[in-house]
Amino acid sequence: MKRTIVEVVLVLALICAGFFGWQSMQKGNQASTSLAALETAAKANEESLKESEKKVKAADEAIAAAKAEAEPLKAKALELEAVKAAIATGPLLQDVEGLYKQQKVLSVERQLGLGALRMLTKGSTDPGVAEAFQKALQLSDWSSRKNTICAAQIGLAAIGEKVKVMSECAVQPSGAGAESGHGDAPAADEHGADKANEHGTDKGKEHGAAKKDAHAAPHWGYEGAMGPERWVSQYPTCGNGKSQAPLNIRGPFVKGRMTVAPDYKPGPLRLLNNGHTVQVNVPTGSKLRIDGIPFDLLQFHFHRPSEEQIDGKPMEMVVHFVHKSADGKLAVLGVLLKEGNENPGIKTLWSYAPATEGPEVAPDEVVFNPGNLLPKELQYFSYEGSLTTPPCTEGVRFFILKTPVNISREQINNFPFRRNARPVQPLNDRVITEG
Ligand SMILES: [Zn+2]
Repeated sequence: MKRTIVEVVLVLALICAGFFGWQSMQKGNQASTSLAALETAAKANEESLKESEKKVKAADEAIAAAKAEAEPLKAKALELEAVKAAIATGPLLQDVEGLYKQQKVLSVERQLGLGALRMLTKGSTDPGVAEAFQKALQLSDWSSRKNTICAAQIGLAAIGEKVKVMSECAVQPSGAGAESGHGDAPAADEHGADKANEHGTDKGKEHGAAKKDAHAAPHWGYEGAMGPERWVSQYPTCGNGKSQAPLNIRGPFVKGRMTVAPDYKPGPLRLLNNGHTVQVNVPTGSKLRIDGIPFDLLQFHFHRPSEEQIDGKPMEMVVHFVHKSADGKLAVLGVLLKEGNENPGIKTLWSYAPATEGPEVAPDEVVFNPGNLLPKELQYFSYEGSLTTPPCTEGVRFFILKTPVNISREQINNFPFRRNARPVQPLNDRVITEG
């Protein structure tokens, strides 16, 4: 029995010794683990400190660079502040908005102007700013309106709207963006010298040397001492010709069998104010087929009011497309312009047409299709006529389309000539056909 008790005590002692031994081993393990963790943390701290130092250095450099860049902007910012201060009182925006409210549709340019004015007077957070620029963007048509699209995109980007500004719209340093190169190019009157041309023939032939001088005194005009009644003194055909144009178109008509088929193509826009009209010079490729015979479209130009009359009444305006065949015959296709909706084609032309006489301008990357000014229906009145400007050369076949196209009152008013139409001429023994 005694032996058994001793054995039990020994076993208990062994168990106790084992337990304490295990416990102290655990503690040792824990201590070494936390030491390793501390070492790792210290290392990490050291690294992040180095990283922070690098970042601070980079930030210092960036600040220095930004300061250098900002220096030239200070002057611009001051200018902007001055403009803001001048119009910040408010009534200008109200006036302009009030004025524009009376119009059904605003032009892209006005829409842009509104956006800019709003941004200046109300600040970029005003919801009307984004709305105005968005509207301008919707109104823009890429083929003809790169500049306005760019302006609207830059405007939206400036107020933090998410909009991609096209690479073509990169803002150029002031001075470099101005129209250059075309202004002093002397090749303005391409059609004048070598191709027959309803407007400019006289300048090309008789004053070839002087045609570079855009400010030479005009020697014929539409009123006063240089008016149509006096043209004959320098240009005999204008007074003595027997088949002069324009005509008062009135029945009875003879049935015409000629077919007219315009085949006009888009091309780079080149136009000028020649002192008598706004003329668009057309690159080669656009044709009018008369009974299948091709006539090259040389240029087109405008008269206000229309030179032709229908039953004694002129329309608000007319556009004359001037063509020439390989054997030198001239044909004019006339499209009457009637007051109505805004004409998108004319909108493009008017935005580039110089307000005063001068050389041809060729706005960068603006493409225009003369076909945009044609009506769908091609029924016509036709007659033998003449150039309607000096030297009034005869042998010109006219096709005046029966269907007019629209032009808005505002567009009529924005044409730079108040009146540039020759009065109607005697019919004599000519017949007017209808096709
Ligand atoms: Zn004409």
